[in-house]
Amino acid sequence: MSDTPPPYDIHRLRELAGELIVNIRELAQSGWTPATSSNFSRRLDDRHAAITVSGRDKGKLKEDDIMVVDFDGLPVGTDHRPSAETLLHTQLYRRFPDVGCILHTHSPTQTIASRLFAGDGHVRLEGYELLKAFAGNRTHEIAVDVPVLPNSQDMRVLSAQVETLLDAGPMWGYLIDGHGLYTWGRDMAEARRHLEAFEFLLHCELELRRLRAQH
Ligand SMILES: [Zn+2]
Repeated sequence: MSDTPPPYDIHRLRELAGELIVNIRELAQSGWTPATSSNFSRRLDDRHAAITVSGRDKGKLKEDDIMVVDFDGLPVGTDHRPSAETLLHTQLYRRFPDVGCILHTHSPTQTIASRLFAGDGHVRLEGYELLKAFAGNRTHEIAVDVPVLPNSQDMRVLSAQVETLLDAGPMWGYLIDGHGLYTWGRDMAEARRHLEAFEFLLHCELELRRLRAQH
């Protein structure tokens, strides 16, 4: 190890790591991060993000389980390996200066919805009061199409598809088939509001499908 100071604010990193750990533990307790899956990040500055280290139990995170990457997804000042999906985080930080937090979870509801709606390529959410939870939305009288992308282990393929979707219009999150949900916000509070809104609305859509099939 050299004595060169890290190229980011270490106090800010500590602060964000603490916030990430508290929030991720809560999400893990909800059963949304099974089997060490899922990953989470916060913008550190205009070149770096704090992100969860790959493969750690999200219910038992410690400060050492949060690492720094640059916006190319490369580790900074650490030997830890970032999540394979780091590129899906850094592309949002690079593109949107006001995105400060990205949450990626694998809840049963998100995963089942992604399978069920993969053929349509999206889940249409329409007429729900809770659509107002998405930043900038003032009415329930809109339709939000949540994209469902085919799963891939090649993050360049996935991130290119996300870029195309982002070019097409406002978006608060997307699903990946058989995998889970990505959502983001200005800070942890906004990203969690979006995550909870998606979870609730996807749950409603699944229940409606089930009830309609019975009648
Ligand atoms: Zn994932």
